[in-house]
Order: sequence, then structure tokens, then C-alpha cells
Amino acid sequence: MRAKLVAGNWKMHGGLSDNAKLLADVVAGSSGLARAQQAVCVPFPYLGQASDLLDGTRIAWGAQNLSQHAKGAYTGEVSASMLREFGCTYVIVGHSERRALYGEDSDTVAAKYKAALDAGLRPILCVGETLAQREAGETERVVDEQLGAVTKRFGAGLLGGGVIAYEPVWAIGTGKTATPEQAQAVHAHIRKRIGSTDAGVAKNVQILYGGSVKAANAAELFEMPDIDGGLIGGASLIAAEFVSICRAADR
Ligand code: PEP
Repeated sequence: MRAKLVAGNWKMHGGLSDNAKLLADVVAGSSGLARAQQAVCVPFPYLGQASDLLDGTRIAWGAQNLSQHAKGAYTGEVSASMLREFGCTYVIVGHSERRALYGEDSDTVAAKYKAALDAGLRPILCVGETLAQREAGETERVVDEQLGAVTKRFGAGLLGGGVIAYEPVWAIGTGKTATPEQAQAVHAHIRKRIGSTDAGVAKNVQILYGGSVKAANAAELFEMPDIDGGLIGGASLIAAEFVSICRAADR
């Protein structure tokens, strides 16, 4: 049985006092949870605060990006080992906003995925198609290419050390959620595809769904057999919403 994971992606939101309240409310609201794994991926400057406020709780923390390089003259970049020093468990790689706004291609994302694993982090690898790609019938080709950048270079076994997040670009921050059936179909495809080279990894890897998940739709998504939780953007900034989503994953 795969555990369910609910990971918040705060994106570029937050401030010290708002974060303190949000994290305190999430910790308090999560006290009765037993099964679901929980995490928040916060902006770099707040990793120390997340570590101070979440250490000893059931909520893990992580970052939203990292450098593919271990160290060196890379102004403005943050390495995997720096994230480890701040107690991160997770780091998001290949979020569609980074691919679209910062030109990250699948090879760069694959290198970041490997750098995260090498440092002992659990990368959350985001894949997903745009609306135009879905309408052109290219969803499977797109996610295969994005996953293939990791598996062709490093082998399918490497996916076992991380988490995959299927995030259709048309559903991120738009209020349009994929139906449970649409999401399940892609999750099943991803698992089958991994299974064609590594059955063990396919069986055990967590595949999260992301894209306008909220308290009102989380349960029906999480009931699908290949959906192992969610990557949550906007709703992770509202403690009551985020905790409700975690509860839906705790059943
Ligand atoms: C995300 O940023 O990964 C995301 C899924 O955002 P939202 O939940 O706001 O659609």
C-alpha cells in the first residue's frame, strides 16, 4: 500500500508573520492525522523558519527549486546540500512555471532531479501537458518525454527515490481541475510506462495530482487507485483548506 502525500507549494507567497500563523494552524489542525504524509514547500528565505516551526511535528518541509550544480560560481542559485542543511526532505523540480517562465527544459530538470537525490532529498518531479497539447492528443507523449529525460539518462530505478506530480498546466491556478477520471487515466499511464522497465518502482512510486485541488474536490481525486495524494498550490496558503485536503488523504 502506497502512503498518500499532500505537499503544499507556496510559490512566491508568504511573510514571516503570515507564515508563523499558517504553520501553527496547519500543525494544530493536523494533530489527529495518522496516515497521510504532509509537507510544505516554501520560498528559500523561509526554510529556517519552517525548520524552527515544524521540527518535531509530522509535517516535513522543502523547497521549490534547486541548482543542478553542487557548488561554484552560479550567482543566485541554491544547491541541494544547502537545502539539506536546512532540514529539507523535499524539493520540487520541473514545475510548469519554471519550465514556462524560466526556460527549464527536461534535461535541466533531470539534472536537478539527480542533484537532489544525490544529496539525500526527495525530489517531486512535475510533469504535465498544456491545454493545446491535450487538445492535440499529445498528453501521453508529453509526460513520456518529461519522465524519459530522467529515465533515459539515469535509469528508471532513479524514479524510486522521488515522487512524481502529474500537473496538467491548464489546471494549475485556473480553478479548472482535471476530473478524477482524466487524472487517473494519466496516472495509470505513467505507472504502466514506468512498469515496462521497472515493475518494483512502478508499484511503489507515489504519483501526486496537482491542479486546483481544494477541500471540495480532494476526496474524489484521492479515491482513484493511482492517485497517491496532491501537490497543492493556492489552497496550501489557507490552513483550513490545506488541513481538509490532508484529511481527505488520511482515510
Ligand atoms: C501548483 O502550483 O503546483 C498547483 C497545483 O497550483 P494550484 O493548486 O493553485 O492549481
